Amino acid sequence: MARNLDPKCKLCRREGAKLFLKGEKCFSPNCAMVKRDYAPGMHGAAAKRKRLSSFGLQLREKQKAKRFYQLLEKQFYNYYERANSLPGDVSEILPQLLERRLDNVVYRLGLAAARTAARQLVNHGHIMVNGTKVTIPSYQVKIGDEIGVKEAYLKKPFWISQEANLGKSNVPGWLNFDLQKKSGKVVSLPRKEDFSEPFDVTLIIEFYSR
Ligand code: SF4
Repeated sequence: MARNLDPKCKLCRREGAKLFLKGEKCFSPNCAMVKRDYAPGMHGAAAKRKRLSSFGLQLREKQKAKRFYQLLEKQFYNYYERANSLPGDVSEILPQLLERRLDNVVYRLGLAAARTAARQLVNHGHIMVNGTKVTIPSYQVKIGDEIGVKEAYLKKPFWISQEANLGKSNVPGWLNFDLQKKSGKVVSLPRKEDFSEPFDVTLIIEFYSR
């Protein structure tokens, strides 16, 4: 699958927001947004962040969201189209569809330090949904789904080394994590209060509705 290979910290600096793309580093003083909170490039430090037009603001929010979930333009647009075609409030359905991606759920459960790492785990066949291996990062989880690690892999050095990190993440209310079983369950659909995205969904909808 095609993916954005731009340096991750530059994406945060371009958006002027922490997008949490690099796992532990994002919470440390070494985060590029702590050390160099200005746009990347030769003149980034000297240039002030520009005042944006309303179109500029909408565009930046869309870019932020797309990069937060590590999606390409077309993939992100497809989520908007799908949210728009479903009954209900698009501003709630769009983040719901994005949050219900399997790679995001693996990340939210704390099985991976970043969404890119979570995507790799899914791609490489480490992740099971209801006892069946699922290798599609965009797979949409539903209420009642159990997401875990393939048992045979738990004995591999990678998962043994991860043991100490599991169960430390702040798991959102719509998911449940069982440290003993190293698996999680979808207990409800993500609600508005569960969303902690650093972007404004309303501006994204305005961007696509122009
Ligand atoms: Fe880099 Fe993470 Fe900081 Fe973003 S939040 S600048 S990805 S370390």
